[in-house]
Amino acid sequence: MLRVASVLSFFAGLVAVTIWIATALVEHAVERDASRRSLEWAEFAVWHVPRIDDLAQGLPSDPAELAAFEDLAHFGGVFRFKIFSPDGVLRFVSDDPGSVGSSLGTHNEHAVAVLTSGEAMTFVKDGREKPDRPDLYSETYLPVYDGDRLVAIAETYMDQTTKVAAVRTEYAIVGAALAGMILLALLIPSGSLWVMFRRLRRTNAELEEAQVRAQASDKSKSEFISTVSHELRTPLTSIKGALAMLESGKFAELDGSAKRLLEMALKNAEVLHLLVDDLLDFGKLATGGLEIRPCATDIAGLVQDEVDRIDSYDADRQVECRYTGERGPLFAHADPARIAQVVRNLLSNALKFSPVGGKVFVSVRERCGAIRVEVKDFGCGIPPCDQERIFEKFTQIDSSNTRQHSGAGLGLAISKEIVEAHDGRIGVTSAPGRGSAFYIDLPFCEGAAEAGAVELRNVA
Ligand code: ADP
Repeated sequence: MLRVASVLSFFAGLVAVTIWIATALVEHAVERDASRRSLEWAEFAVWHVPRIDDLAQGLPSDPAELAAFEDLAHFGGVFRFKIFSPDGVLRFVSDDPGSVGSSLGTHNEHAVAVLTSGEAMTFVKDGREKPDRPDLYSETYLPVYDGDRLVAIAETYMDQTTKVAAVRTEYAIVGAALAGMILLALLIPSGSLWVMFRRLRRTNAELEEAQVRAQASDKSKSEFISTVSHELRTPLTSIKGALAMLESGKFAELDGSAKRLLEMALKNAEVLHLLVDDLLDFGKLATGGLEIRPCATDIAGLVQDEVDRIDSYDADRQVECRYTGERGPLFAHADPARIAQVVRNLLSNALKFSPVGGKVFVSVRERCGAIRVEVKDFGCGIPPCDQERIFEKFTQIDSSNTRQHSGAGLGLAISKEIVEAHDGRIGVTSAPGRGSAFYIDLPFCEGAAEAGAVELRNVA
């Protein structure tokens, strides 16, 4: 409704401006025409009334000349005229030649203005209120020259009723054509804009619908993953426990190949367990259920514990994992269990992607007001184009080396979420073939050491 009102008022404004311009143009055309015809009239007057200068000086006119004055009063569309002296004093009025009208002898300001400018001056007037005037007429003040000599100032009255009507019709036609063109010029683009707008609105609605559908399907997928992971976890824990007990040899003495088989089964159960844990965390992330409980945590101690523990992770590959950082304590405001999880993921990746017999260096240092944990390996490295991508869900670099290792491509995505939930940062610098250095920066916990904060180590 509001839009219709503003469109209507816009068009009303457009029409008003057009009418105003047209009126001004009509007046201008009539003024020019009246001035031109009055100048012709003046030439005729000088030729037809040789004593016009006497008349302008106020000398009494000869009654024999009255016929000539009569001719002048009907020449070139003039129906009335006045003669002023060259200095602007009224001397003669054509429709009252004999009598001395009350205004005779008075100065006329327009006549004086013509005297100063030397140019004709025209006014268009409405005569409908006056009994002896046409509906529209013009009054033109102009200088009358005899050769180079200014002999008088004249004022001519011309009927402009038909002229104005004709000019108005002309301008109305031109105006209507112009308005039509403007309207078309406005309507065509606004029409296409309107169509585009409608299309955009429809596409938007479709997109929103698709988004809602995608969100719903995403949610049910996450819920499904959570449920399956939960269901897998319990039997997997008991399988792992049973295998571990068998492997310990408490129940039966195992020969070499059976023991190897058991070790392999146990290792795969461990990998499966880690995968299920990742899937569970992923489900929690998707539903916003991953809880962070931060407290003053000695990150240096926590990382050293993880390094000690990881030694037993993959004994076959004989990768040496060495802590090279500050001994600590170095406190950050962090959830120890979650940060331990992140460190474990970085360590297991470093071991996984290191060559047999390789080295992994781990450090914790204070750096620019943050605690930086760094895990550095000398393995296959990561191409620059993949260094951001690996922090996205389910991303694994599609190289033959990567494919040799287990994993679902979730560990780094989960780590990123955890670190960012601590207002921290996770990143990597790496060169293919030369290794990678993963780091996490956690905000330093001011005054935690002085306050005697309890050192919380690896609650995982
Ligand atoms: P995954 O469980 O598959 O290892 P991550 O999210 O932990 O999942 O890692 C994603 C991918 O990033 C890995 O599959 C691997 O391609 C790459 N990546 C991670 N750490 C390293 C590393 N230290 N060296 C080389 N590539 C790595």
